[in-house]
Amino acid sequence: MSKVKAYVAPSEAAPLVASTINRREVGPDDVQLDVLFCGICHSDIHTVRGEWGKQTYPLAPGHELAGKVTATGKNVSSFSIGDHVGVGCLVNSCLECEPCKTGHEQFCQKGAIATYGSVDRDGTVTQGGYTQSAVVNQNFVVHIPKNLPLDAAAPLLCAGSTLWAPLKRWNAGPGKKIAIIGFGGLGHVGLKLAKAMGAEVTILSHSDKKRDDALKMGAAAFYRMDAEAFTSLAESYDVILNTVSATVDTNAYLNLLKFDGAFVVIGADPTPTVSLSTSVGISKQRVFTLSLISGIKETQEMLNFCGEHNVLPEIEVIPAQYINDAFDRVVASDVRYRFVIDTSTM
Ligand code: NAP
Ligand code: ZN
Repeated sequence: MSKVKAYVAPSEAAPLVASTINRREVGPDDVQLDVLFCGICHSDIHTVRGEWGKQTYPLAPGHELAGKVTATGKNVSSFSIGDHVGVGCLVNSCLECEPCKTGHEQFCQKGAIATYGSVDRDGTVTQGGYTQSAVVNQNFVVHIPKNLPLDAAAPLLCAGSTLWAPLKRWNAGPGKKIAIIGFGGLGHVGLKLAKAMGAEVTILSHSDKKRDDALKMGAAAFYRMDAEAFTSLAESYDVILNTVSATVDTNAYLNLLKFDGAFVVIGADPTPTVSLSTSVGISKQRVFTLSLISGIKETQEMLNFCGEHNVLPEIEVIPAQYINDAFDRVVASDVRYRFVIDTSTM
């Protein structure tokens, strides 16, 4: 066991503070990495603030780890010291059930182990990426293409993988009209991915502030959603991806789908009940569905795709001391468009 520097939440109401966490010794199937950068996902905030239920504290959040391999266990053959690697939202699963075997470890029937705040198989509570070092089972480590800078690549580990899965599932590509609700960390990566896949992308936002940025990043259109926009955009999209961290009017958005279109919930509104209008759904055979991150194979595919198409998140690199201010800015929709912690400042 070794102690490494980290930023941890002491309780759900307290700001994060500099501290240390324990990391296990490198086992035969483990990869040890220097975590050089870690993105701040809104899920980190929901979690440490107790919005998704009780946690065990102190807790280091962070599931967008990017860094370099520093040691490997004896059974590890696909990673070498110095490799650029990432770790996303998962660090363990049974690897034997049907979801695991088909590359959907996030749906492991024995319970997927999240990168932080989960009780791992050895009984310890997992600690995330707001730290300088991690030890992770090789099956949950992915390669980051060498042409992607590690700071900007970090958000791909959650935001990228989370948008990739539904874009693939709902066939984003030429001829598809996709709308993304919420232009934050997830939303802006979704725009870049969908655009690189050849789809036409529209951003639906709750203010006008990000219009120029969205258009510069390749959006075909941008709307601040008001009554007029909801009327004029009826039956416009094949797919709508909702990445908003708060409650939206789902039925109003469902009405913006074409016949057979799909509304995909990605944003994890802490008030998790949706009341669906059957008439809005049935009248156009619309699909209401939800999506949870990606499996490991898909995450690697997404990273390779980003390497080939040079898809990179827009980031603001911050020192660790700024994490609490960054949290407040994320909650205020004032992130442009992902904060990434430079862990050398810890
Ligand atoms: P984020 O950077 O804060 O982006 C969320 C965006 O939602 C904001 O930029 C804002 O966009 C919009 N928004 C925020 N508050 C709003 C409000 N009160 N009313 C209307 N719109 C509002 O967060 P993120 O990191 O992208 O994460 C988004 C959500 O996805 C979070 O709930 C997170 O936990 C969840 N998540 C889910 C998965 C999954 O697997 N399903 C994975 C990762 C994260 P505009 O300013 O453009 O309106
Ligand atoms: Zn996340």
